[in-house]
Amino acid sequence: MSGQAEMIAAVRAELGERAVVTDPREIEPWLTDWRGRWQGRSPALLQPASTEEVAAVVRLAAQHGVPLVPQGGNTSMVGGATPPADGGGMLLSLRRMNRIRALAADHAVVEAGVILQTLHAAAAERGARFPLTLGSRGSATVGGLAATNAGGTQVLRFGTMRRLVLGVEAVLADGSVCDGLSGLRKDNRGYDLGQLLIGSEGTLGIITALNLQLVPAVAARAVAWVGLADPQAGLDLLRSLQSATDRVEAFEVLPEDSLARVLEHIPGTRRPLAGAHPWHALIELTASDADAEPPATTLERLLGEALERGLIEDAIISGSDAQADAFWRIRESISEAERAIGPAAQHDISVPVDAMPRFMVEAAAQVERAFPGTHASGFGHLGDGNIHFHVRAPVGAGPEWLEREAPAATRMVHDLVTAAGGSISAEHGIGQMKRDELARLLPPARLAAMKAIKAALDPKGILNPGKLLD
Ligand SMILES: Cc1cc2nc3c(=O)[nH]c(=O)nc-3n(C[C@H](O)[C@H](O)[C@H](O)COP(=O)(O)OP(=O)(O)OC[C@H]3O[C@@H](n4cnc5c(N)ncnc54)[C@H](O)[C@@H]3O)c2cc1C
Repeated sequence: MSGQAEMIAAVRAELGERAVVTDPREIEPWLTDWRGRWQGRSPALLQPASTEEVAAVVRLAAQHGVPLVPQGGNTSMVGGATPPADGGGMLLSLRRMNRIRALAADHAVVEAGVILQTLHAAAAERGARFPLTLGSRGSATVGGLAATNAGGTQVLRFGTMRRLVLGVEAVLADGSVCDGLSGLRKDNRGYDLGQLLIGSEGTLGIITALNLQLVPAVAARAVAWVGLADPQAGLDLLRSLQSATDRVEAFEVLPEDSLARVLEHIPGTRRPLAGAHPWHALIELTASDADAEPPATTLERLLGEALERGLIEDAIISGSDAQADAFWRIRESISEAERAIGPAAQHDISVPVDAMPRFMVEAAAQVERAFPGTHASGFGHLGDGNIHFHVRAPVGAGPEWLEREAPAATRMVHDLVTAAGGSISAEHGIGQMKRDELARLLPPARLAAMKAIKAALDPKGILNPGKLLD
């Protein structure tokens, strides 16, 4: 019997039939990544239902030398949860670990397989909120969100997963369980293992449960759409809003071209302002205290002042939740609208916030010069210094452009980002998609430290090999 076959038999014997799926039809949906770019193979899908069962699976994997590919909702944008194509790895799904162990007003202890939307609903029932949200909330699990240090649209006010995790329970590569769920606000006993696991993409340990911070529920919200001359005006506006209120929850920018493409290709969308403007900002303010000044009043006052100072060209504040959602729909439809036009190389990048307005304009011009016919532009979370920088193929180019031309454009974008002191992955992680670029561009001392940590915590290389690091 091969190592894999022995391992499958051993997991069956120890954990029972339910923990092992070998029917290829049931495994199939979990072998391809969200974007359909990578196709993996796995002889079985292991699905333990408790921390002890995860520990048993990892111990058996170490014993039989079988690499494990941890998987939550399989929404990774970088092929992080797709098993290797040679069938040498085995899927370890956390989806049966889906219990909310405890829920209080200010924190929740949840198992790794809990879907983000489920946590949102449970917190809302208690009058609380888990303030991280993103487009994949109906599928992504809290374990996967922590393993990729996910962000989203509310990072400006509440931070990424790293800031919202109060404690981590995880199984390490030898099968030992590390329980850090007590949620201490202060703990200086040396290295912070929980923080090390956040963003480790399943390469250092299997996250089995998390203690997550909750905040009070939203009592009122207002969303504004603002016309701007350029991204610098956007950043100046954000700074002036932030100096007047601590309730700015989201601040997104997009160029006129992105808005025009959405209006052209997404049915039911409408231009929020009467005239065209070179750039646009979408701003959300919330209040958790019903007695506080309504967010719409605050926005009206602050945007009125900004208009008088010539910082903005025009603005409209949503008059209803439906209008607020319509503004957000425009922002969230940009990628879909671009897909309707043709292929695009997409980059999830960050540079220091103050450098972003200039980067957005200059990098786009440089890329368009180097790759004639392409259209380059950035949109997204200006306040986090994180944008989606897309390079659209010349008009008429087919899908082969992505294989032929896009890699050179991507290298150029990554070089420009690195020269600006930025990161080639601000949200989605490295996975297998950016692994070689990470090795090319990460400062050597940091890369060596990461390799040393991996070798120390996973000496047999059984946790998600080939992802993040070679
Ligand atoms: C439509 C859409 C919108 C998105 N928007 C955003 C966004 O705005 N911001 C953002 O940051 N990201 C975004 N993402 C990507 C985001 O990374 C994922 O949604 C999420 O973080 C991964 O959760 P998952 O449960 O699907 O994990 P998976 O995709 O299953 O796994 C992701 C990685 O984590 C590892 N992993 C999963 N579970 C565990 C565990 N329990 N222990 C250890 N390792 C584990 C996997 O091995 C893999 O490396 C988006 C994705 C989609 C499809």
